[in-house]
Amino acid sequence: MFNSLSDRLAATFKNLRGKGKLTEADIDGTAREIRRALLDADVAVPVVREFIARVKARALGTEVAQSLNPGQQVVKIVNEELVGILGGETRELHFAKHPPTIIMLAGLQGAGKTTLAGKLAAHLKNRGHQPMLVACDLQRPNAVGQLQVGGERAGVPVYAPHPGVSSETEEATGDPVAVAEDSITHANEKLHDVVIIDTAGRLGVDEEMMTQAANIKSAVGAHETLFVIDSMIGQDAVNTAQAFNEGVNFTGVVLTKLDGDARGGAALSVAQVTGKPVMYASTGEGLKDFEVFHPDRMARRILDMGDILSIIEQAEASWDKAEAAKMAQKFTDQEDFTLEDFRAQMQQLKKMGSMKKLLGMMPGAAGMRQQLEQFDDSQLDRVEAIINSMTPHERNAPKIINGSRRARIAKGAGVHVSEINSLLERFTQAQKMMKKMASGGGGGDMPGGMP
Ligand code: GDP
Repeated sequence: MFNSLSDRLAATFKNLRGKGKLTEADIDGTAREIRRALLDADVAVPVVREFIARVKARALGTEVAQSLNPGQQVVKIVNEELVGILGGETRELHFAKHPPTIIMLAGLQGAGKTTLAGKLAAHLKNRGHQPMLVACDLQRPNAVGQLQVGGERAGVPVYAPHPGVSSETEEATGDPVAVAEDSITHANEKLHDVVIIDTAGRLGVDEEMMTQAANIKSAVGAHETLFVIDSMIGQDAVNTAQAFNEGVNFTGVVLTKLDGDARGGAALSVAQVTGKPVMYASTGEGLKDFEVFHPDRMARRILDMGDILSIIEQAEASWDKAEAAKMAQKFTDQEDFTLEDFRAQMQQLKKMGSMKKLLGMMPGAAGMRQQLEQFDDSQLDRVEAIINSMTPHERNAPKIINGSRRARIAKGAGVHVSEINSLLERFTQAQKMMKKMASGGGGGDMPGGMP
């Protein structure tokens, strides 16, 4: 996400690095470069204009002139202004005083509403809520079925009294407003504290769709209306967002498909143009490809400063606490780090989702973009297969793995012996490093380098 914007900004700032003083011409040139980079990333023209004016005014002011490192000061200003256009503070859902909290999703067809409904339900369930999904998209063929699949994956019930439009007759069945109203009674009976309503979209904004969404919203008294937008739609983002803002007066935005080659313009325009915060981001088709949107962290990612906080949070959410404590204990006891431990750690890592995505959040990731592109998540599966092919004794005492054992393991895992050799070599180095760290008395609670 935002790759080319990130690269362009990094190149611009490189020219400022190490300059003791910035002339007006330096600042003009930088502002021009940033302006071009933003426009090429499809950020809306009025947003770019305002952004550049603010950055320039600040860069020409005393905070840069009096700074010891003016180049860095400019980066700091751009960072702060980026946080501003992304919406400033992180905005969490507001839960109703009297449950259920009713959340309605609105947006064009194909924006990713139905997919998002499942992810949001899973996210809220993980946080201790008892959500229920409601199928009010009775217009897109198979939208109801798709929501049911999403609900099943998330382990969340779906209220769907109507099957929706049949792909054969193309006739809509049921009244979405009535379904939404009935769903609230149902949620009350079943003690659900959150209701997520999926609504119909159209390929383009149209009045009938907007009226239906507005009617559902007022019939149930939605507490939150989330406008779901595909970040790949480029300059159209602003008009679509404005139409929905007028039509349903949404309370927050969800950006989808940020994993694609999205130039990111929608992300950088919508909050500013509508004055509504971006609350979530969707980054793939899987249930886990979902993030709470933090403007400050997103700005850091765009400026290639890394997003360590998100990595830590993902680790905390997915790591098995008992396993982590066991590793920490081994570490303090200076016990040998074995292949069994290595496999357990790898399994924990895999639970955090795609390694490629995680590595992309590290500071300086932009500089390793090519290597990252080549990173193959299935490598972890291969290593796991190799360790699985070993006997428990071999895993606990890798030193005994001689030539004939290597050949047997390679055959079992379906890989070449050279892969076994390189794994054992890397493992021995890791083991040595762990030993050094443990004897140095460093950090007792760092299983795998994570808190
Ligand atoms: P709806 O019409 O708004 O309900 O859209 P859907 O939820 O059916 O999504 C439309 C298509 O986009 C589907 O093929 C989804 O799998 C896909 N999709 C949704 N969200 C994402 C995302 O964040 N990343 C990617 N790559 N695909 C997505």
